[in-house]
Amino acid sequence: MEFRFVNSDGRKEMPFEPIEPGKVGIYCCGPTVYNYAHIGNLRPYTIQDVLVRALKYGGFEVNHVVNITDVGHLTSDGDDGEDKMIKAAREKGMSVWDIAIFFTKAFYNDIDRLNIQRPSRFSKATEHIEDMISMVKTLEDKGFTYQAGGNVYFDTSQFKDYGKMANLDMDALKHGARVAVDNNKKNPGDFVLWFTESKFGKQAMTWDSPWGVGYPGWHIECSAMSTKYLGPHFDIHCGGVDHIPVHHTNEIAQSEAANGCKWVNYWLHNEFIIMKSGKMSKSKGNFLTLQSLIDEGYEPLDYRYFLLGAHYRSQLIFSWESMGAAKSARKSLIRKIQNLGVTNSSDVGLSDEGKIWLEQFENHISQDLNTPRCLADIYGILKYPSLDNREKVYLIFKMDEILGLDLERSIEALEVEDSLPMDDEITKLIQERYEARNNKNFAQADEIRDKLLKQGIRLVDSPEGTRWEKI
Ligand code: AMP
Ligand code: ZN
Repeated sequence: MEFRFVNSDGRKEMPFEPIEPGKVGIYCCGPTVYNYAHIGNLRPYTIQDVLVRALKYGGFEVNHVVNITDVGHLTSDGDDGEDKMIKAAREKGMSVWDIAIFFTKAFYNDIDRLNIQRPSRFSKATEHIEDMISMVKTLEDKGFTYQAGGNVYFDTSQFKDYGKMANLDMDALKHGARVAVDNNKKNPGDFVLWFTESKFGKQAMTWDSPWGVGYPGWHIECSAMSTKYLGPHFDIHCGGVDHIPVHHTNEIAQSEAANGCKWVNYWLHNEFIIMKSGKMSKSKGNFLTLQSLIDEGYEPLDYRYFLLGAHYRSQLIFSWESMGAAKSARKSLIRKIQNLGVTNSSDVGLSDEGKIWLEQFENHISQDLNTPRCLADIYGILKYPSLDNREKVYLIFKMDEILGLDLERSIEALEVEDSLPMDDEITKLIQERYEARNNKNFAQADEIRDKLLKQGIRLVDSPEGTRWEKI
């Protein structure tokens, strides 16, 4: 497979050539764990999962690193705003450390439920403070920093290509409104590498450093951890488009200044999920989580299907109607595969036509991860008359190695669901049991309960009446 990606650095599609043949290093900016991930945040991790699965399918050995920002950073991506972790800790009456542990676990749970494979490494910012300090020291030795107001700043005027990927207009920045934000900054784009002075009183998470007790600026963690685990120059860096102008711009400047070489070859940025009512925001509290979709009766994989239905570089509008459409489409897809009646397709040899379908799918995924086309390929195969059923199932499961819809297990789950009695049948049996108990016919009442139990339905009695649940 020959991969091509649209590289945000240069804004054009280009063939993918790894630095080291057969190997790929990928770094993805991970979550800031001061709240649940919202459904928008889960888009980058889902698409990165497809990317990693596709590269592995294509024969690459992938080293995939995702950071966990468990040290406070500010409610704005610039150096202004309130510290997100402290705000959350105050609101929930927990320590910042406990907040971080709690929401890191919640994040792992979300990605597991979305069938996202765990990366080679999750690296926590709090476990890499020494690496960050060491990078800031290197930057200091090379003359890229200055100290002001107790903090260490990166001096963007010393870095020739500052803002190149984002196409930032430095003159406009200089004369723009941001100049007044922090009087300590020499240039408007400058950013803090190490804080000793917090605008928000005493920080709960602080460490000793050559510049005094304090804590790292947000951007330095990604540069320090990616360099540690992927080397000073690696293949692919991912994240949402919001990170281009500030976070990734600053990551590039400090990494290339410290390491003295090009840092990343390919930048893949996903567009946003937006609500019909506008932008979702964790810091403003108006957002949906995976759990809120589950509470509305959706399965996590319905959301994965919803995401795969759009190209990652297009904005995607979330609505309950489109979520409902994704749910029915996924169920009908599983039903169609189930109806092929194939129990084992592992040893199928591909016909020439089967090979053409697979090649077409591989082309679609390798051309900048065109997941909507890949889904269309699956439907194409299902409708195609001259492939036999076993070959169809073989092809679809093979494609699912990349799409990660977990189709094989979903079919099994549907079979279990099919074997369960319908809701109105259960209600009828509950009523019969109620009447049997009223007539003191306990043997019949128990018989009904046991019959349902065998079908995977448990009855729960309470003063409010009897309800049922699936086991
Ligand atoms: P955060 O936890 O805020 O640092 O965000 C985690 C990831 O989600 C980053 O890669 C962001 O760029 C991305 N992101 C944030 N909001 C959205 C959204 N509404 N749609 C898609 N990606 C988003
Ligand atoms: Zn980052």
